[in-house]
Amino acid sequence: MKCGHCGKDMQAGFLQAGNLIAFNKTRHKIFLNPKDEEDVMIAKRLYASTDFRGYICKECGLVTFDYQHPLRRF
Ligand SMILES: [Zn+2]
Repeated sequence: MKCGHCGKDMQAGFLQAGNLIAFNKTRHKIFLNPKDEEDVMIAKRLYASTDFRGYICKECGLVTFDYQHPLRRF
């Protein structure tokens, strides 16, 4: 996969994250829960973490991953 930012080859792998991940339209200072209808709660699991298939560009730092299909931790 080519990086959408710089065009270099991206490396496939897994984004492994903690129990709460949000992509919010504005930066929330305390709680990550959605405030705007365009906010996306990517992962919310109390006692586990979540993994995603993804790609990383080591040239410019861009990471892409499929947040709609998380993988269960082993
Ligand atoms: Zn790049």
